[in-house]
Amino acid sequence: MNSEADRTVEHSDFDAVVVGAGFAGMYMLHCLRKLGLSVRVYETGGDVGGTWYWNRYPGARCDVESMQYSYSFDADLDQEWSWSERYSPQPEILAYANHIAEKYDLRRDICFDTQVTAATFNETANLWVIETDRTDRVTAQHCIMAVGCLSAANTPPFEGMSNFKGPIYHTGHWPHDGVDFSGQRLGIIGTGSSAIQSIPIMAQQAKTLTVFQRTPNYAVPAWNGPMDKDYEAEIKASYPDFRAKARARPTGFYFPFNIKPALDATPEEREQQYEEFWSRGGLPFLGAFGDLLFEKEANDTVAEFARRKIRSVVNDPAVADLLCPDNIFGCKRLCVDSNYYEVYNEPHVKLVDVSKKPIERFIKTGIVTDGTEYELDAVVCATGFAAMTGSFDKIKITGRDGLTLAKKWEAGPRTYLGMSTVGFPNFFMITGPGSPSVLANMIPSIEQHVDWMVDCISHMRDVGAETIEATLSYEDNWVDHVNAVSEISLRSTCSSWYVGANIPGRPRVFMPYIGGFPVYVTKCNDVMTNGYEGFVLEGATETNTPPRIRWTDRWQVELDIEIMSPAAISAGRVPVV
Ligand SMILES: Cc1cc2nc3c(=O)[nH]c(=O)nc-3n(C[C@H](O)[C@H](O)[C@H](O)COP(=O)(O)OP(=O)(O)OC[C@H]3O[C@@H](n4cnc5c(N)ncnc54)[C@H](O)[C@@H]3O)c2cc1C
Repeated sequence: MNSEADRTVEHSDFDAVVVGAGFAGMYMLHCLRKLGLSVRVYETGGDVGGTWYWNRYPGARCDVESMQYSYSFDADLDQEWSWSERYSPQPEILAYANHIAEKYDLRRDICFDTQVTAATFNETANLWVIETDRTDRVTAQHCIMAVGCLSAANTPPFEGMSNFKGPIYHTGHWPHDGVDFSGQRLGIIGTGSSAIQSIPIMAQQAKTLTVFQRTPNYAVPAWNGPMDKDYEAEIKASYPDFRAKARARPTGFYFPFNIKPALDATPEEREQQYEEFWSRGGLPFLGAFGDLLFEKEANDTVAEFARRKIRSVVNDPAVADLLCPDNIFGCKRLCVDSNYYEVYNEPHVKLVDVSKKPIERFIKTGIVTDGTEYELDAVVCATGFAAMTGSFDKIKITGRDGLTLAKKWEAGPRTYLGMSTVGFPNFFMITGPGSPSVLANMIPSIEQHVDWMVDCISHMRDVGAETIEATLSYEDNWVDHVNAVSEISLRSTCSSWYVGANIPGRPRVFMPYIGGFPVYVTKCNDVMTNGYEGFVLEGATETNTPPRIRWTDRWQVELDIEIMSPAAISAGRVPVV
């Protein structure tokens, strides 16, 4: 029993409380309202947008093309909104989020500047008690986590940080008024996606830029530019078909994919193919061959191609060597860049290798590593996130029998379908660990989860169910399946944030589901059609019946077999970028 909550809960203030007002929380609010439910959303930030509210660093933009990185639930919205660039910059994506908030009048149910600190399930009343840092204490039947996969910024606890006399920024918590580094000696720690996007722009401003690199990352050029109006018009003319094509892809977004194995091609054919896909740029480069993420030997060919590209750009061979990763290509999240490697030819940009001798400490005037003092006026930490579970860790979430989520996930997250976890009834996670989430285009992933959950909640109302909760055997099987599929891909072999390796002490578990978006969607649909297979509904007058309302119907997708070789299908090898 959860004594505190049990003593005082008498009635439900809301049907649902949603935590987070990024794209997930916003769409959830919109849908729950359509069901006629009362909803309260809490958001730590001062406004909507989530990722795009917080990550205002120079150069921040999406790396899934904007024509695809957008909501699909409203045909009018599809037509009325226009993106100015192929990959839109953060201010434009935030403007889109604001447009959504206004168009659907979302803000009136969102409490901004309010962080949820605790969520406790009251077993007597079958209600969640939600507490915030502003002393709110509300109850709700459903507690829905829309807290984001990449929302808990990670700043490693470097020694002496408080001694540094200048400002220290994190890319994921960027000041709203921007920062001007003109004339400054700037240091940046990290060379992941945010660093790769921001370094070329920061280098234009700073007097000197010192980049502290632990692990080099592969980056493919974005070839970003103004939106091609003909391309936009062509997609808008048949947006639903285009969206459907994208949903049939393992990634949830559409791009040309060549299923042939790299190892079947001659070196000359491979080179030509890589050049062609390089010229298209971005994440779709991984579609050059079908076996790149499955066969180490095939991956070696693409990794070497990428290293040659780096060497062809960076003049100083020693610097180029340092920038060349030696791990699996695409194993860590592939970065997409605009003039990143070129920056290292600038005389005022210096690359410091901290792979063997880590940053020792901050001092008043800068950073010390390997006995050398680097004098700096400002430091940017581009040190990423406690991915997938970081925002859950910050909330004290307590389920049945006083079990905390932190305790349950001590050895790594355990979920059924990435949406639900045993011991926590009526607790839903949007793009939680064990779902495609960060391995797919996230906006469709969010919409599919929300639609499934809304159908489920509506069904519970129809059959009078008080609670829904996953069962242990189904959860165990799902966790085993998520692990087994991850082992098919080379992705599980390296130390990345997908496995929590960027943060010391985190259990090493491959967190997202790598089996591909359509396979996952089909699984979710089957679970629903089979009367919520693997879930127990308590208090229901009917059990094991499928829902009457089916928003999920729009997610009935077949895997696009054209992009799969028969061998890949039989081996369960779904190509995922
Ligand atoms: C720089 C960057 C670029 C990206 N580019 C892409 C891309 O191109 N394509 C793609 O598919 N994905 C991309 N992503 C992933 C991106 O996070 C998702 O696409 C999407 O925006 C996630 O939406 P969300 O609502 O699930 O989470 P978020 O946008 O992270 O929103 C979660 C919200 O929950 C709030 N919150 C968390 N905990 C609490 C709490 N305890 N109390 C109250 N509020 C809380 C947070 O403040 C946050 O606003 C990118 C991520 C980053 C960081």
